[in-house]
Amino acid sequence: MPSIFVFNQNNSGGYCIVDNDIAEVVAIVANDEDYANIYAEELGMFDLPYCKCCGRRFDNSPYEYNYDVYGISAREISSWGDTFRGHYNGTVYTNADSFVAAVLEFAAY
Ligand SMILES: [Zn+2]
Repeated sequence: MPSIFVFNQNNSGGYCIVDNDIAEVVAIVANDEDYANIYAEELGMFDLPYCKCCGRRFDNSPYEYNYDVYGISAREISSWGDTFRGHYNGTVYTNADSFVAAVLEFAAY
């Protein structure tokens, strides 16, 4: 059963980088943490420019949410709104509600 791995961006230099794939919160659905980190690396998340005093933007120890999205996880993830990019099954979701809806649809089977 996959999990939702959540990476929070450190606002290095006083700002966050936001683009098609990356925002303040990046969630990646993956089978384990190693795979989530490989995906994050492919997105370039570990190579982003950063301020030396503030440190890197992302580290490779994401928070793992249990795939039981019927419970607390879904409500918490939904609250992240649009500061969010969710990567699930080859699609990028720019809104946390849409992401949760897609994951719920899958989990219903
Ligand atoms: Zn700094």
